[in-house]
Amino acid sequence: MDYDPMVMDEAESLGPVVKISQADNVRVKFELSNADISFANSLRRVMLAEIPIIAIDLVEIEENSSVLADEFIAHRLGLIPLNAEGAESLLYSRDCDCDNYCENCSVKLVLHAKCTGGENMSISARDLVPAGDRMNQTLGTPVIRDEDGLGPLILKLRPGQEIKLECIAKKGIAKEHAKWAPSAAIGFEYDPHNKLHHIDYWYESDPKTEWPPSEYVDWEEPPAEGEPFDYDAVPNRFYYNVETSGPLPPDGIVTEGIKVIQQKLAGLIHELTEGEGGGYDGPRSPEYGGGGGGGGGDGGYAGYSTSYGGNGGNQSSWGGAGGTTPYGQTPYGGGGSSWS
Ligand SMILES: [Zn+2]
Repeated sequence: MDYDPMVMDEAESLGPVVKISQADNVRVKFELSNADISFANSLRRVMLAEIPIIAIDLVEIEENSSVLADEFIAHRLGLIPLNAEGAESLLYSRDCDCDNYCENCSVKLVLHAKCTGGENMSISARDLVPAGDRMNQTLGTPVIRDEDGLGPLILKLRPGQEIKLECIAKKGIAKEHAKWAPSAAIGFEYDPHNKLHHIDYWYESDPKTEWPPSEYVDWEEPPAEGEPFDYDAVPNRFYYNVETSGPLPPDGIVTEGIKVIQQKLAGLIHELTEGEGGGYDGPRSPEYGGGGGGGGGDGGYAGYSTSYGGNGGNQSSWGGAGGTTPYGQTPYGGGGSSWS
């Protein structure tokens, strides 16, 4: 899009404005302005914990003569970042109509290695090979960033030892388990001169010399000498530093985060306008995207419990039998359309 950011900056009626100050394939730094702090913080929290990606969730070990216990290896496998671009077309397993897992709700990876040489052998993420049908050719591939092209170390084998296993990667969000976190860290900062006095600095004699200045002090006007405190001032410029853990590019985390907020708001509107007539037939999924609802697809509203719903049954927020999402079609493509 071709526009002059300075012109947009002045046009306050346009709503939130984003200025990117630095971007590469690991992090993006940007400023969000003309937005309320509650919105800015919602975006931060959603980017940390509610963007669906995929991670290894099930490991079937056929052979393990290494020194590490099966469950120890399974835990390490779960934490390996897998490429999640295209994961929006994957269903949550709890929303899928298969018994355990299938190609519509999972990606299979296999690992088979035997140390036949005379020296110890290192098994790393590179040795995890996607198998079976996939939505696209990158989905589920281990993310490898190091110069040697090996990826994270999984285990080591002594001569004669063997490891053979099959992994099932499923879709999830970091609220459920940190292995589904798309972002490694998100820096969030506003008011670099502390004009609003939201921070109380601890100091010996002078906070100005004892605390390092924010990297954004040049972005905003410092307070004038003797300036009176403005009791009505509210923050409206927010500085983010989004670092990816690998599954999605950093800009993808931001756009997916905005999509998740949109879905949450759409769910709220849905609840307010149509909630009364729909009835309730199951616990809700932890978020609303990703492939349609078992009962929602044919027009019956079936999601969203509230604390006022009077449902005496299963209160788990994580689905399980009968877990549904409210939309048959999602903005992520018609995940539910192939079901009967
Ligand atoms: Zn399935």
